Amino acid sequence: MIIVMKQNATRAQIANVAARVEQLGCGVHISTGEERTIIGVIGNGRPIDREPLQRMDGVERTVPILRPFKLASRDFCPQDTVVKVNGVSIGGKQLVVMAGPCAVESREQLLEAAQAVKETGAHVLRGGAFKPRTSPYSFQGLGEEGLRLLAEARDETGLPIVTEVIDPQMLPMVTTYADILQVGARNMHNYALLHAVGESQRPVLLKRGMMSTIEELLMAAEYVLSHGNERVILCERGIRTFEKYTRNTLDISAVPLLKQLSHLPVFVDPSHGTGKWELVEPVSRAAVAAGADGLIIEVHPHPEEALSDGAQSLKPDRFATLMENLRPVAEAVGRTL
Ligand code: PEP
Ligand code: MN
Repeated sequence: MIIVMKQNATRAQIANVAARVEQLGCGVHISTGEERTIIGVIGNGRPIDREPLQRMDGVERTVPILRPFKLASRDFCPQDTVVKVNGVSIGGKQLVVMAGPCAVESREQLLEAAQAVKETGAHVLRGGAFKPRTSPYSFQGLGEEGLRLLAEARDETGLPIVTEVIDPQMLPMVTTYADILQVGARNMHNYALLHAVGESQRPVLLKRGMMSTIEELLMAAEYVLSHGNERVILCERGIRTFEKYTRNTLDISAVPLLKQLSHLPVFVDPSHGTGKWELVEPVSRAAVAAGADGLIIEVHPHPEEALSDGAQSLKPDRFATLMENLRPVAEAVGRTL
């Protein structure tokens, strides 16, 4: 349930309501909006009588939330959440593009990619330093050296960086460098990691697991939110189906559905969603047309030499064309790019 406080509710009234909720054995989540405060009641499974709460001073109304995800739900927060990171607003009118190589491979490769995506209008630089590869024999990333290179690329370009964290123990190290923490598809169900990134105060890009339902994605977001981190960005990156021509099957309907169910920003990853660079541009256009708040795209200066995901990586000039062709689609749906 959520309790919507009146616009002029006093601090004492809010504190009183919160204390009453706690007496009932429920958790409290207070969200202070520009206009009014909303108190999220995290139930303990037992039904709660709304009547006495409804009558308390300062309360405007109570609204039951029947879905299993509460803090992530649109009922809890009817307005779109905008996640702010180093001057970039994610989830607002401006479409946000994160771009860069799958993995940081070398200083030269990263800086070349970073300069190229910056020049073309990307807002955030992506690059993996810890790579959760399907095979233990594949390139696993440069580790902390990769993070240092990302920080250098941020200093050179001014672009904030998003990079994956695969283990709660590495979180302090990754947080030292990253502006946005990426939780990858393989870790969407890693509850210890979700808990840890929930306690860190960095925005989180949470990717849908390759065999996960929309509800499971939202429940994973709920883990992060319920541990105190409100800056979560959801990301559709394709799910596994019987189709073999593409690496995954990008679920385009996830975009409007997630926007309906949740107030969190929704991103699409057309690179992992398709596995083929030729499909990245058309699928990006589809994602924006469907209402995505942004895209995360793999760009490599020399995809044929890439140590991971070369087949789905765009060369810088193709990325520039994509950005150009994306602009009219963005405008058609009332966004800027
Ligand atoms: C990645 O972004 O490079 C990645 C590994 O993505 P995913 O977790 O979606 O497979
Ligand atoms: Mn990749």
